[in-house]
Amino acid sequence: MDCIFCKIINNEIPSKKVYEDDTVLGFHDIEPTAPVHILLIPKEHINSAAEINEDNSSVISHIFEVAAKLSKEFSVSDGFRIVTNCGDKAGQSVKHLHFHLLGGREFTWPAG
Ligand code: AMP
Repeated sequence: MDCIFCKIINNEIPSKKVYEDDTVLGFHDIEPTAPVHILLIPKEHINSAAEINEDNSSVISHIFEVAAKLSKEFSVSDGFRIVTNCGDKAGQSVKHLHFHLLGGREFTWPAG
């Protein structure tokens, strides 16, 4: 499968990793939109949030645990946003489930 995030997991292309364990990888987004912009991904290839199910969902809670930990490490725990774009209409450009951890600036709501 030609998946850029699977290649990052397999160290076939470089990334700036900030977290790694058996099931989750975190790395800096290559085009950050906030002072802190980290991507958290399951190592298992899941196309998007639309494909989370009872067999693969345990990694999702783990990703949120990691996000909370990283928000403290990167000093944004007083205000951050976690976003997952799902599908073309929502602007998902990489078809490997990922959560954007964004912090270090003000955010508006509702998001555009
Ligand atoms: P999305 O548009 O929600 O699918 O988010 C995909 C994100 O992946 C974008 O913010 C890109 O900047 C980021 N991205 C794409 N390629 C890489 C890469 N090789 N290393 C780090 N981030 C990447």
